[in-house]
Amino acid sequence: MPAEPAYVIVGASLAGAKAAQTLREEEGFAGPVVLIGAEDQYPYERPPLSKGYLLGKDSWDSIFVQPEGWYPEHDVDLRRGVTVTKIDRSARQVVLDHGEPVAYDRLLITTGASPRRLSVPGSDLDGVLYLRTVADSERLAAALRGGGRVVIAGAGWIGLETAAAARQYGCEVTVVEPEPGPLRRSLGPEVDEVFADLHRSHGVTFRFGEGLSELTGPGSASGSGGPVTGAVTSSGAELPADIVIIAIGVVPNDMLAADAGLEVAGGVVVDEALRTSDAAIFAAGDVSNAFNPVLGRGIRVEHWGNALSGGPVAARSMMGRDVSHDWVPYFFSDQYDLGMEVAGLPEPGSYDEVVYRGDAESLEFVAFWLADRTVVAGMNVNIWDVNDDIQALIRSGAEVDPARLADPDIPLRDL
Ligand SMILES: Cc1cc2nc3c(=O)[nH]c(=O)nc-3n(C[C@H](O)[C@H](O)[C@H](O)COP(=O)(O)OP(=O)(O)OC[C@H]3O[C@@H](n4cnc5c(N)ncnc54)[C@H](O)[C@@H]3O)c2cc1C
Repeated sequence: MPAEPAYVIVGASLAGAKAAQTLREEEGFAGPVVLIGAEDQYPYERPPLSKGYLLGKDSWDSIFVQPEGWYPEHDVDLRRGVTVTKIDRSARQVVLDHGEPVAYDRLLITTGASPRRLSVPGSDLDGVLYLRTVADSERLAAALRGGGRVVIAGAGWIGLETAAAARQYGCEVTVVEPEPGPLRRSLGPEVDEVFADLHRSHGVTFRFGEGLSELTGPGSASGSGGPVTGAVTSSGAELPADIVIIAIGVVPNDMLAADAGLEVAGGVVVDEALRTSDAAIFAAGDVSNAFNPVLGRGIRVEHWGNALSGGPVAARSMMGRDVSHDWVPYFFSDQYDLGMEVAGLPEPGSYDEVVYRGDAESLEFVAFWLADRTVVAGMNVNIWDVNDDIQALIRSGAEVDPARLADPDIPLRDL
C-alpha cells in the first residue's frame, strides 16, 4: 500500500490548529499531520490577550484552541517552540531551526502576522511594549497593574482595547494617533466620534494628528537603556510615561513564502480555495492575501473569523475538495461595556453613504455603509443576533431603501 501523504502546517495558532482539527475530525485524514509553531505554547486564541486575559478575567486554559490532550489523542505531531527557517520546494520539505528537514506532500502556511515596530530614538527602552503573544499580554498586565502613566501609539483596535484595559487598571492613558480620529483605516471617519467619545468618557486623552517621534529615558538620553520615562510627539509635546504601548498595526509573516519564490503581495497570494502559486502549498489566516468571492478581490485581513474559517477551508483544499472561502469579512471588539461586530470592509473609498439604525449616542445602533444603495458593510453596536442578517444583505448585493434600512421597526430580513 502506498504511504499516506504527509501534511505539514507551519504556524500553530488559530488557522493552523483549526486546519489540523478539520483534517482529523471532519475529513478523516489518516496520514501524518505535523503542526509546527515558533511559540512554546499550545495553540491559543489572541482576542482575549487584549480583553479578558489582559484583565485577569479569562484563565489561560480557557483560551486554548483545543485542550492540550487533543493533539496526541488525534495523532497530530505538534512541534512547539520550533521555527521553520526555509521552504525547499524542489525537495518538498521544510527546514527547522535546528536543521532538521520535514518532508511534505501538502504544506499549509499559517504564520500569521507580527506587530509593526516603531523605530524612533528610544524605542528599545524598557517599558516600551507590543501585544501579540500571551507573553506580551502577561508582561503588559504586570506593567498596568502598577498603575502609572500609559502612552499608546495608535488608535486602531489594539490601541483602543489596550486603552480600555489600562483605564480599568486605573492608569492615566494618552493615545497618540496621526489620523484625525480613531479606527480611520478600518471604519472611515463617520463613526469615529462614537469611539473617541466612549474613551473620553472613561478618561482617555487623545492626541490626534500626531505621531511619536522620540521616547525618552532617565537623564533624557533616549536610546541609552533603562526605563522609558516619556514620549515626545511630532508636535513637540512631551508626555510623561511609565509604559508606552506600540499598536501601529501588523505585518504579515510572509518572508518564508517570499524566499521560496511563492507569489507574495502584502501577504501570501492565494485563490479562493486558498491555493498558492505552487499546487502543493496553501496559505490561510493573517498571512494570506486571499481572493474573496463575495467582494470580488484579494484581501488580507487580520481578523479572528478569517483564521477560524480559513484554516478548515485550507484543510479541505489540501485534500483536493472543491472549496471556496467565500466568507463575509467579520470582526468583533469589546471595549468597556461596548461590544460590537463588523461585517464587510467599510474602508474609506468603498462606500458613498452611512446610514444609522438606532441611536449612536446611546451606543445601541447599527451603522450601514452603502455604495450605490447596496450594503457593503454593517456594524452592530450593543445589539446582538443581527450580524447574520447584515452579512446576508452584503452577500445579496441588492439595492436597499436607506429610509427603510434606518427604520428599526422593519426587520433586516424584510428589507
Ligand atoms: C491582542 C490581539 C487581540 C485581537 N483581538 C481580535 C478581536 O477582538 N477580533 C478579531 O476579529 N481579531 C482579533 N485579533 C486578530 C486575531 O487574533 C488574528 O486574526 C488571528 O490570531 C490570526 O490567526 P493566524 O492563525 O492566522 O495567525 P497568528 O495568530 O498570528 O499565528 C501565527 C503563528 O505562526 C507562528 N509562526 C510564524 N512564523 C513561523 C515560522 N517560521 N515557523 C513556525 N511558526 C511560525 C507564530 O509564532 C504564531 O504562533 C486580535 C489579535 C491580537 C494580537
